Amino acid sequence: MAVPPDLQQRAENLRAQIAHHNRRYYELDAPEISDADYDTLVRELQAIEAEHPEIAEESPTQQVGGAAAVAFAPVEHRVPMTSLDNAMDESELGAWSERVAKGLAGAAARFVCELKIDGLAISLRYESGRLVQAATRGDGRVGEDVTANVATIAAIPKTLHGANLPEVIEVRGEVYMSLASFRALNERVAAGTEIEGDGKPRKELFVNPRNAAAGSLRQKTPSVTAQRELSFWSYQLGEVLGGPSFTRHSETLEFIGAIGFPVNPEIAVVTDLEAAAAYCRRWQEHRHDLGYDIDGAVVKVDDLAQRELLGFTAKAPRWAIAYKFPPEERNTVLRDIQVSIGRTGRATPFAVLEPVFVGGSTVSMATLHNEDQVRLKDVRPGDTVVVRKAGDVIPEVVGPVLSLRPESSQPWQFPVTCSCPLQSALVRMEGESDTRCVESSCPYQRDQRIIYFASRGAMDIEGLGERTVFQLSDAGLVSDPADIYSLTTEQLLTLEGFAQISADKLVASIAATKVRPLPRLLTALGIKHLGPSAAEALSKAFGNLDAIMGASEADLATTEGVGGVIAASICRWFAEPVNRAMVEKLRSAGVEFGRVEVSRLPQLLAGKAVVVTGTLQGFTRDEAEAAIKDRGGKSPGSVSAKTFAVVVGDDPGASKLTKAQDLGVPILGLDGFLHLLETGDLPQP
Ligand code: NAD
Repeated sequence: MAVPPDLQQRAENLRAQIAHHNRRYYELDAPEISDADYDTLVRELQAIEAEHPEIAEESPTQQVGGAAAVAFAPVEHRVPMTSLDNAMDESELGAWSERVAKGLAGAAARFVCELKIDGLAISLRYESGRLVQAATRGDGRVGEDVTANVATIAAIPKTLHGANLPEVIEVRGEVYMSLASFRALNERVAAGTEIEGDGKPRKELFVNPRNAAAGSLRQKTPSVTAQRELSFWSYQLGEVLGGPSFTRHSETLEFIGAIGFPVNPEIAVVTDLEAAAAYCRRWQEHRHDLGYDIDGAVVKVDDLAQRELLGFTAKAPRWAIAYKFPPEERNTVLRDIQVSIGRTGRATPFAVLEPVFVGGSTVSMATLHNEDQVRLKDVRPGDTVVVRKAGDVIPEVVGPVLSLRPESSQPWQFPVTCSCPLQSALVRMEGESDTRCVESSCPYQRDQRIIYFASRGAMDIEGLGERTVFQLSDAGLVSDPADIYSLTTEQLLTLEGFAQISADKLVASIAATKVRPLPRLLTALGIKHLGPSAAEALSKAFGNLDAIMGASEADLATTEGVGGVIAASICRWFAEPVNRAMVEKLRSAGVEFGRVEVSRLPQLLAGKAVVVTGTLQGFTRDEAEAAIKDRGGKSPGSVSAKTFAVVVGDDPGASKLTKAQDLGVPILGLDGFLHLLETGDLPQP
């Protein structure tokens, strides 16, 4: 069947695009598109070639990786280093296992399930037990000699130990960068202390641990590789001369481990496909419980004789498949950078993005935190940017793709005035990272204060969300949180979307919050620096709002968990006549000022210390800690051997995470945390 010209042209166009991206990814360590978008191009080309195999020759679908860079001496692989075929879901995994069964004429196969470490493949050659050569994969036949760089990686043994060592043994595995090292590296870049091979500080942040690992290994100066703290997991034998003989892959892994190589502890041997699929599912869910990135799981036939029977395609073994997890990084266009005003006047820049589906949802906005972050990431309107959404963590703009930056692009400038009708000044105080709108009557701030007052962590007014607050404020029905309590059904009925039932319901749910306990009320006032923990401590110490209002700064500061900064902020807040007036309005509305409540939750965490680091979706830090304390647990600020678990959210403190890993303290993500709150116990891995 002749190939239709438009299809032929599309195939050529795809090949040219793939070749371009291969060069940027494998040779320059600077990809322009996300892996997911790259995979889509490859799959489209594969589909065309499957229909028309006559045009598949010389195609990138038949080739491994990219060319070896001339900066490194070439190393010919005696046993080719192949790629892996991919399964994007369980049905593709099933189709692979059917192909395996067919290739084995129906004989049963055992599988070894491994994590697919997101780093880069390396081949390590040992002669008489000594490391003599390390090479990258390159195009699978010829790689790059990176021996001097690999010699700086502590996890890679330089000499092997044990009886019956083969005369020549080539061990393959993945060089990767742990998340802790990656964060530390970017912290050094941000501080201007990460010196590159040319003696100059590096300016651009690394986008992800994989690119950082690849760039760090392919350095011309080994001392630069050394400071990057690369790690290694071994998962495969290459050429072997002498030594013991093996019948199973799992035996080779045991042997590799015994002679001194790190072998990933999560590797599992299973007897059927359902168990292999369960392994893939489990790790897809728990991928963030690890201290390093994985982008999938690899399922391999265990029996080496069966592998022999199955053989290879042009670029990958038929006896293994990479089960790819859904992508957590995509590229998109940054349309604009805008600024939102928070309840305390904090002006937070955020990215307005061309909507992109990533990490299980469509992302069209992402916070950029503050002016320094925008400058450090050097993201500008019009840039193509990498967006990351990992698990339940809030989406993040990782950085720009510099090679795609429009020529006319200019660095973004923080606006000097608020976009509210008052156009008040946005000011950044010296020594502070935040920029603030200094006009407390700013309508944006006012709306945010009301939203915060009604929010889950504060007065928790059911049915009074952001949208309704904006409607009420636009209609002039509320101008401070206390006004909420004088809202009537009739007033609500004038708003779009309200009917008798919904209006009655909201009025009732507002009234029900008049008896909220004091810590909630105190938190809801939105006093800068005063979170739920300090509000709890003050409520216990003073008993009612009037006592807190009347207390001196010194008295407030002596309360445990309440320092000078919080005490000063509280006094400043109550000194403002508008705030006093608002408090009096709350009193007249019948809001209780002195309800102190003891937790009635089962004390499942009694005696257990759970450390929280980073931000968790759906909880502020204070709320997460309060949830632990409400169940009888403690939530100290640092990790020790006695810590029961560490809950890790977005942007966790590197030291807490590293310490937890060093001490072997269980690390939990959001799901694990919810499980812990519910049961008092750690989830089963
Ligand atoms: P791959 O990454 O899909 O799979 C093969 C590699 O997996 C091996 O070479 C090895 O390095 C690694 N691996 C990790 N753990 C392993 C384990 N336990 N056992 C065996 N191997 C393990 O294939 P590839 O050929 O290296 O690269 C193709 C992928 O690279 C694409 O799917 C795409 O995601 C990415 N890529 C992206 C771009 C881009 O522009 N963004 C360009 C080229 C390639």
